[in-house]
Amino acid sequence: MNRRPVVTIDGPAGAGKSTISKLLASRLSFFYLDTGALYRAFAYRLKCEGWDGTEQKIADICREMKVSLKNEAGRFRVLVDGEDVSEKIRTEEIGLLASKISAIPLLRKHLLPVQREMAVVGGVVAEGRDMGTVVFPEAEIKFFLDASVGERASRRYLELVEKGQPVILKDIENDLIRRDCQDRERSVAPLTVPTDAVVIDSSDKSVSQVVEIMIAVIERRYPLAKPFSE
Ligand code: C5P
Repeated sequence: MNRRPVVTIDGPAGAGKSTISKLLASRLSFFYLDTGALYRAFAYRLKCEGWDGTEQKIADICREMKVSLKNEAGRFRVLVDGEDVSEKIRTEEIGLLASKISAIPLLRKHLLPVQREMAVVGGVVAEGRDMGTVVFPEAEIKFFLDASVGERASRRYLELVEKGQPVILKDIENDLIRRDCQDRERSVAPLTVPTDAVVIDSSDKSVSQVVEIMIAVIERRYPLAKPFSE
């Protein structure tokens, strides 16, 4: 039986990766692996405990903290030591802290086998910054999802306003630019386009248009594999 593929989706913050990855995973009946949520979970714990800025603290948390990702009836849940932190990790503050700590090699090293373990049987849509380059270099299908900064900022702004968070568009745009810089310029696993990725600019495309483009790419490569075998 064919192993179901691993599909990777990399790209900068606010390009629509989460929405699109979730929909794609659901269309394919694949597991949705949001690796940003892992970095956010660590950032959340550090914020709660008051991070002293040391790597020792991160090493301690790597040893003690158990983070798990669940797909339950179409809902994506993030659990930290059993506590559901799915909503609490979705703030700009946690996003920026996640970006900062994600440049620390010991944390990336710790999370590498954690992520690979979650995709060991295939049938996964994995989204992040280094999915196609570092975590799943052998992935069967790779996408890089991009969009202009202005478009990404206004999407993120609307998303946060909908959640009732008090935000200012210009601040969101500045945070995105800062996060892009941190993610692209770090020395370990920087955000880059995997050489064998299909690049999609979503600036002028709807969510469903992007999903259809992805499905078409997948079907071209796996013409007989629909539905994928378990
Ligand atoms: O995708 P999301 O905004 O949730 O990710 C939060 C931060 O986690 C990113 O800005 C990035 O710095 C980091 N990250 C990463 N590698 C991944 C996923 C996320 O460095 N694979």
